[in-house]
Amino acid sequence: MSEKVKHVLGLSGGKDSSALALYVKETRPELDIEYFFTDTGYELPETNEFIDKLEEKLGYINRLNSRSFNNIEGRGEKDFSNLLKENGDYLPSQRDRWCTVQLKLKPFERWVDEFIKDGYIVKNYVGIRADEQERSGFMVIEKPIESIMPFREDGIVKSDIKNILERNGLDLPAYYEWRSRSGCSFCFYQKKIEWVRLMEKHPDLFEEAKAFEKGEKNNTVGEKFYWMGQGQPLTKLESPAERIRIIENHEKAVERFKKKKRRNALLDDVEDTCLVGDIDEIYDEVEGGGACVTCYK
Ligand code: SF4
Repeated sequence: MSEKVKHVLGLSGGKDSSALALYVKETRPELDIEYFFTDTGYELPETNEFIDKLEEKLGYINRLNSRSFNNIEGRGEKDFSNLLKENGDYLPSQRDRWCTVQLKLKPFERWVDEFIKDGYIVKNYVGIRADEQERSGFMVIEKPIESIMPFREDGIVKSDIKNILERNGLDLPAYYEWRSRSGCSFCFYQKKIEWVRLMEKHPDLFEEAKAFEKGEKNNTVGEKFYWMGQGQPLTKLESPAERIRIIENHEKAVERFKKKKRRNALLDDVEDTCLVGDIDEIYDEVEGGGACVTCYK
């Protein structure tokens, strides 16, 4: 008897997973793929719009709504504010990324469990490219799931991504005009300049993020951490002088980055790509800055 295989591909709202879905459809048309998008309930409006556009190209996308998936346990609605209480009012951070587990991985786990129970072998397609190093931020769940990386198998690199989107009639998601990643509006992986842009573009979402900081407690050694780090509440950004300082520093970092690219004779690459999308390079960090591919890829 032939084995039952379920092919699944997660869309984060980021450019790489989107390009991957389109690429796999072009190059492996024989595969019957179930697409999924884990909606934390705190996605940017631009991300939701982009997922709708993708659905027109790909076909049905399963929305794994983290609120309703958390409801399955019958413990009432589990939106972020309730989860925050459960986690002792400590905001998630790069050191303790409980949000990814609760908002992204658990809904996925519950969804995929149904296939596993039905005797399927699950193959999960991941958008890690051929030009990327091993990802330290790649969180996995303890399930019999095989990760498949078509970009890596086929030598697809960063500069190919935009072409894949364009030949399928899509531009980069609109948030790339001001932010480098998909994921929650309050994601702590944002750089200060991105918080400033969130405040300008979506003041309501900025206020929501700020409200989550209110209950944040001191830790055992008396430190208080906020979304932007220790001792750095979002209220700091309400000062125009502070915002100007952040914007000017960012502009200087962009200039340094452009100079470095010119020195490497890659100016065309700079002109052609969205600089916001290169934010990790601008700040000399590994792509993704440690963020999980589940959230932003
Ligand atoms: S996008 Fe950021 S805040 Fe949201 S689940 Fe992922 S790491 Fe956590």
